[in-house]
Amino acid sequence: SKGQWEVDPGELTLGQEIGSGQFGLVLEGRLNESKVAVKMIREECMSDEEFKEEAKIMMRLSHCKLVQLYGVCTQRSPMCLVFEFMENGCLSDHLRARKGRLSQDVMLGMCLDVSEGMAYLESSNFIHRDLAARNCLVSKNNEVKVSDFGMTRFVLDDQYTSSLCSKFPVKWSAPEVIKYCKFSSKSDVCNPQEVNTVRTIIEFKQAVTCHGQDSLFRSCDFVVSLQTDGVLMWEVYNEGRLPYENRSNAEVVESLNSGLRLLKPRLAPDSVHLLMEWCWKEVGPGF
Ligand code: ADP
Repeated sequence: SKGQWEVDPGELTLGQEIGSGQFGLVLEGRLNESKVAVKMIREECMSDEEFKEEAKIMMRLSHCKLVQLYGVCTQRSPMCLVFEFMENGCLSDHLRARKGRLSQDVMLGMCLDVSEGMAYLESSNFIHRDLAARNCLVSKNNEVKVSDFGMTRFVLDDQYTSSLCSKFPVKWSAPEVIKYCKFSSKSDVCNPQEVNTVRTIIEFKQAVTCHGQDSLFRSCDFVVSLQTDGVLMWEVYNEGRLPYENRSNAEVVESLNSGLRLLKPRLAPDSVHLLMEWCWKEVGPGF
């Protein structure tokens, strides 16, 4: 039976290739009158039966700071996922291309866009699991939107999903994830976003008590900002540089465990750096 998440192949026109990712090629396309991005899923890359179930939930997530999933086309082989089209591509490339030309307002705006998207996911009880600049996309009018939420659960590549392995996003994970959930492949329980959410609430309360809201940010921005992952902020204020560029995951784990953190980006104001440090503060095993 055809669910409402099912895209009619007759309404979908495929165009040229615009990229490639973990699951396969990404093509430009049209769904009726809208421009869309179509992810062609290579079978060996995704646990697709599980994904089909999840797609129903993901399609109900709808927010201006999230890249919208329009539907899934399972009647075609390979299966494909149809998303809102984002003219300016992925955030990390976008930052690199505009290096030296990004104003303070633009950089803070990017962080706030992401944090709004993340705050929405949190309020929907949805965990991203892999927030990083490479998983955010930029629209025609330079709005940043969060993409690829929850998708790591369907990747059939142990190298990516097991924290022991080379492609696990250690460099984007919270310190205590590495410390207390070290090398657990149960990323459903131990994942950076879940931890950040808990910490967000605890630290927002502390920050308000200690500093007073207004001394740092305008109050509403501040609440939202705390939902942003510190490493993503670091990437923005370093204009798309990769964190811990020349270091292996093992070296990163070791230095995080000994309390070292990423350095303050040259372009980041003190208030922004303080926020990053909060994100990276270690919380105990009982958080
Ligand atoms: P995956 O996360 O599945 O590994 P990505 O989402 O990173 O793959 O997609 C690979 C590339 O395809 C991106 O870097 C981007 O250039 C392009 N792309 C992906 N989704 C979209 C989209 N919604 N709009 C425009 N381009 C996209």
